[in-house]
Amino acid sequence: MAGYVSEVLGNLEKKVYWEKEFLQAAAEVLNSIKVLVEKDSKYKEHRILERVLEPERVIMFRVPWQDDNGNVQVNKGFRVEFNSAIGPYKGGLRFHPTVNLGVLKFLGFEQMFKNSLTGLPMGGGKGGSDFDPKGKTDNEVMRFCQSFMSELFRHIGANTDVPAGDIGVGGREIGYLFGQYKRLKNIYEGVLTGKGLNWGGSLIRCEATGYGTVYFAEEMLKTKGELFKHKRVAISGSGNVAQYAVEKCIEYGAKVVTLSDSNGTILDEDGIDSEKLAYIMDLKNCKRCRIKDYAAKYKRAKYFEGKKPWGLAEAEIALPCATQNEVDHKDAKALVDNGCICVAEGANMPSTPEAVEYFIKKKIFFGPGKAANAGGVATSGLEMSQNSMRLAWSREEVDNKLHTIMINIHKAAKDAAEEFGTPGNYVNGANIAGFRKIADSMLDQGLV
Ligand code: NDP
Repeated sequence: MAGYVSEVLGNLEKKVYWEKEFLQAAAEVLNSIKVLVEKDSKYKEHRILERVLEPERVIMFRVPWQDDNGNVQVNKGFRVEFNSAIGPYKGGLRFHPTVNLGVLKFLGFEQMFKNSLTGLPMGGGKGGSDFDPKGKTDNEVMRFCQSFMSELFRHIGANTDVPAGDIGVGGREIGYLFGQYKRLKNIYEGVLTGKGLNWGGSLIRCEATGYGTVYFAEEMLKTKGELFKHKRVAISGSGNVAQYAVEKCIEYGAKVVTLSDSNGTILDEDGIDSEKLAYIMDLKNCKRCRIKDYAAKYKRAKYFEGKKPWGLAEAEIALPCATQNEVDHKDAKALVDNGCICVAEGANMPSTPEAVEYFIKKKIFFGPGKAANAGGVATSGLEMSQNSMRLAWSREEVDNKLHTIMINIHKAAKDAAEEFGTPGNYVNGANIAGFRKIADSMLDQGLV
């Protein structure tokens, strides 16, 4: 039976050898669930692995738009509707020049298991474009979003497929996308999450991924009687996830010493406090400037051009919150050498397979993205519930629900890891718990 996993992975490599990120994510999941698939022949009999690896639908389209100088620009648009066994497709949109089908298949594949772990009825999907919002004016971003939605609207809906934000897609973009959807469909429905609070958004959605990552790390630490308080934390990125991870760390009495962007890293030995965080939020979300400016404003901080945060300073906790494959084996070693005992992935697949292997070998608490950063999509699920009920819950109510969901995800991953003989291995636990629910639902629903 172990041959089934190898056979499927071997065939996949031949079929889509250029989709490197997708192959990486597929190998990680399939190797983890080998023990489950070995135990029960029904999965092979019904070819569940082949079915789960093939998106139900992939939509690719042209996105023509006009820049402020009147020039015509053309980008690629995508939506990968991966799996709807347990609910409508759900997953973010990424606008970044590195976006291609392989990257979105990796993200959609991961999303499917993540959504399953939340315990909410959401299938998996992902989409986006190779459009780069950096350096574009608000009007250019609006025209792009309107053109993107002019094709996407026919494929999505509150009960079909509900996109959200991701890298390069924040509140501004969701607003333009929602406006165009409403105009084209003449329906006011919860078709997107991450909406503005005045028009159907949920309190805490903005904070959810960062907060949730810290809640997950807290649960891992608690298993050995450790706390966030007084610990030093290294965080990468300075976007949505990173910002709210910092906010929760401050609330928990920890000291965040690094943040980064795609140009470099800042190190602040004094720690990033609430006032400095407010400066960063304004810098990144309003002025749309570089993290480098932080070191110009706070003179005791240092800026390292082209460097990642890992190993720049001592830190017991690391929260990679930027992008995929940003922590390699060398970085993992540098983190551990600098006293790291806990890594929780705010980003999707930020650690390479070699880095993950190293963390597990060193018995570091390691929370993989699909479990640790599931708070974002979980709160999107709560936004969908509120939209269906035409109600809005209080901040406290949503945060409590988010916190409970993160505690439950931690427990599900921990229990599954123990049940299948790898206690403490949250990678195996999250993959098995996430996969089992989807696979069994697919079996219930027949060959579709
Ligand atoms: P943002 O666009 O708000 O921020 C992304 C941050 O990562 C920016 O600081 C960006 O720097 C940096 N970054 C992007 N690409 C690279 C790169 N190639 N190298 C170094 N730094 C890079 O995105 P989010 O915070 O929303 O997303 C961050 C991660 O979290 C992604 O992996 C995303 O998939 C994941 N995630 C997000 C969720 C959400 O709710 N937003 C939910 C679950 C996961 P720069 O400004 O220079 O581009």
